[in-house]
Amino acid sequence: MDTFLDVVLPIPLERLFTYRLSPDEASCVEKGMRVAVPFGKSKIYTAIAFEVHQRAPAAYEAKPIYQILDDSPLVTSHQLQHWQWIAQYYMCTLGEVVRAALPGAFMLESETLVLPNKEAQLDESELSDDEFLVYEALQHQSSLKIHEISSIVDKKRVIRLVNRLVQKGVVRQKEELYEQYKPKWVTFVQLSEAYKEESQLEELIQNLTRAPQQVKVLLALFQIQVETKKPVSVKELAEKSGASRSIIKALVKKSILEEYQLRIDRVQFEGEVVKPEVILNNYQQEALRRIQESFGQEKVTLLHGVTSSGKTEVYFKLIEEKLSERKTCLYLVPEIALTSQLIGRLRDHFGEKVAVYHSKYSIHERVEVWNNVLATSEKAQIVIGARSALFLPFSNLGLVIVDEEHENSYKQFDPAPRYHARDAGIVLSSLHKADCLLGSATPSIESMENAKKGKYGYALINHRFGDVMMPDINLVDLKEATRKKRMKGHFSETLHDAIVEVLSEGQQIILFQNRRGFAPIVECTTCGHVPQCPNCDVSLTYHQFRNQLRCHYCGYHMAMQLSCLACGNSTLDTKGFGTEQIEKELLQLFPEAKVGRMDLDTTRGKYAYEKLITAFEQQELDILVGTQMVAKGLDFRNVSLVGIMNADTLLNFPDYRANERTFQMLTQVAGRAGRTKKRGKVLIQSYNPYHQILQQVTTYDFEKMFEQQYYEREQFKYPPVVRIVKITLKDKDFNKLNEAAQWFAQSLRNVLGQTVLGPEYPPVSRIRRDYLKNILVKISKDQPLIQTKNSIKRIEKSFNAISKYKSVRLVYNVDHI
Ligand code: ADP
Ligand code: ZN
Repeated sequence: MDTFLDVVLPIPLERLFTYRLSPDEASCVEKGMRVAVPFGKSKIYTAIAFEVHQRAPAAYEAKPIYQILDDSPLVTSHQLQHWQWIAQYYMCTLGEVVRAALPGAFMLESETLVLPNKEAQLDESELSDDEFLVYEALQHQSSLKIHEISSIVDKKRVIRLVNRLVQKGVVRQKEELYEQYKPKWVTFVQLSEAYKEESQLEELIQNLTRAPQQVKVLLALFQIQVETKKPVSVKELAEKSGASRSIIKALVKKSILEEYQLRIDRVQFEGEVVKPEVILNNYQQEALRRIQESFGQEKVTLLHGVTSSGKTEVYFKLIEEKLSERKTCLYLVPEIALTSQLIGRLRDHFGEKVAVYHSKYSIHERVEVWNNVLATSEKAQIVIGARSALFLPFSNLGLVIVDEEHENSYKQFDPAPRYHARDAGIVLSSLHKADCLLGSATPSIESMENAKKGKYGYALINHRFGDVMMPDINLVDLKEATRKKRMKGHFSETLHDAIVEVLSEGQQIILFQNRRGFAPIVECTTCGHVPQCPNCDVSLTYHQFRNQLRCHYCGYHMAMQLSCLACGNSTLDTKGFGTEQIEKELLQLFPEAKVGRMDLDTTRGKYAYEKLITAFEQQELDILVGTQMVAKGLDFRNVSLVGIMNADTLLNFPDYRANERTFQMLTQVAGRAGRTKKRGKVLIQSYNPYHQILQQVTTYDFEKMFEQQYYEREQFKYPPVVRIVKITLKDKDFNKLNEAAQWFAQSLRNVLGQTVLGPEYPPVSRIRRDYLKNILVKISKDQPLIQTKNSIKRIEKSFNAISKYKSVRLVYNVDHI
């Protein structure tokens, strides 16, 4: 009987694709291994083996696979199960999940470009004949495609070969976006065998009396070896002995020392573990007890702890426990780039057991973490990462922590899978029968409601650690300040004076403004013209530093104009303000102060963000002005004032979550103030100081906020009272889009009734030349979710069959936030 294999291709196919297996292949392929397969006219893909069976596909002749690429599964069955859930729940294909989940280096395909790795330290004798042919070809060509390699070695099946070359560091791949791959080799030295006996040593040192520098090196080497058993690098030896590298070289030449090389992991931790003794205070202990109790009942648990209450230390205790049971932990954070302080704390505490999974790492670094997790290596007992860390091949997961669970950056926006990492993390933990802890100072409405219903366990810490007081939050009425002419630029007198005072005390200040650039709008005061992006439905933001007008949606930019493009008068004025303008005003108002700015424009490089944080930490900066980045989890000892330049832009955001989000954002930013004994001060400037949310922020009234927001969600039927699926249609042709959206919405209404809203234009209704229209499907909690999604999918099928709508693209966003 013939044997077939269903595979998951990393492309948006609705179904698995079936191939034919030879008896040999059938006996060694396993679910979760990679296989190279032909697809379409002449493409080769790396796919994931899913199921071996004897059912020939009805619609097409199954082709043979090219090659099995792994000796054991690279993907576990838990992962596949999890990914199927993601695909089903978030209405995308399994292939799309696979594409997001696996590091690119694992997924060679015919279009992948293979380049020589110039830095490789290579022993040619270690290469097989085929490997050598490729290696040689790459000495003369700058890059090769997979099919070219095929013809060089005259074999169809080369992906395994290329994988091996990648692993040996002989070649690398083109797709690396960030850093180019450099296997990091370090040269170490040791005493030659001949001198390992003590008697020979004495003799040696006596013989060297005329080379005092060399003696110095040897003595330093002994010294280091007394202190540690770790390998000694040339660099370390040179530093310790104070001798130059050439002296060490001389000893190697004399065969007294031996050099050897080790490839150290690029994501390795260097340094000793200093385990600071932490004793939880009573509040933390009580929270820990409650968490453990609720874990005992197999409940997801919400840790609601005010800013600086010591949540992180509670997480650490839970992690310690799991490690002692030989279980691994996944620690999710909203944005890994903003977490350097936390990673430092984790490594101080757990040393080499911590692995970081980072989208800014090269694909090879990610491969390393993947392999370590798959092998349950000591180096990956705790994985900290942003949402994509969910996709790693965990096998004995004991705990999933979702820190700052309320953060909306947990939701992937584009491309599919548009998953929410908190929710996918909860599902992951239940697949592994692991515990799951959500932590936040400002829980999301949905998690809080789950806690209130008793679906989640709940622990509260209402006190900052060390009896530090919550900051004193005050509102500043901008309307009144303007009327009384008490403004200096965008600073009220109150904020201005507070800054003066804090500066005079040598303390630091954080200022928050939710817009980057200089001014979001440039307007001609004669004709009213506002320069717009030609591709998007937004006005261009003025960036003074580059003297440019820029679109924040598509990146379009042009030089700032001297005169109006419409009427020609040089009467251009700016409206509104961003971080850049605040920075500028600060320099004028406080010429003595050192000011730093933290926003997307100043943190693009790999380490740019860390540099700013460190500078602020080291008090090289007095004032840090930034966008929401400054709100996130930073712990600065010396900040005693936080100023919010304008709270209204947050409140006016056209979204049902605007209020909730404003509360979270402001409470988080405020939490940066006064983390030591001196009570911190927070000033919020607003034109609407009587807005309920601002009142709730100043009085720390989370309960009131929750009640009111929940009530509104009930009234207007929004999550978590209902579920929503947002369907976005996109097309370059305005009329076609409108017609198509109307058709789709009507078809949905025919099946689902009045729970379908729209189509409507979103607030920004054109992006990158595409017009957009949204349809919102509300699904009540007692309505079966799967059936509703299936109905939507069926309508999509009919829609796709209409040829005039062929160019219209559909995007599903489940639980859109
Ligand atoms: P959160 O995560 O709730 O914002 P952190 O865990 O960052 O709070 O704690 C705030 C500060 O208090 C940190 O500097 C932390 O090191 C310190 N801290 C918290 N708990 C303890 C403890 N039990 N012993 C010593 N220091 C603690
Ligand atoms: Zn644009």
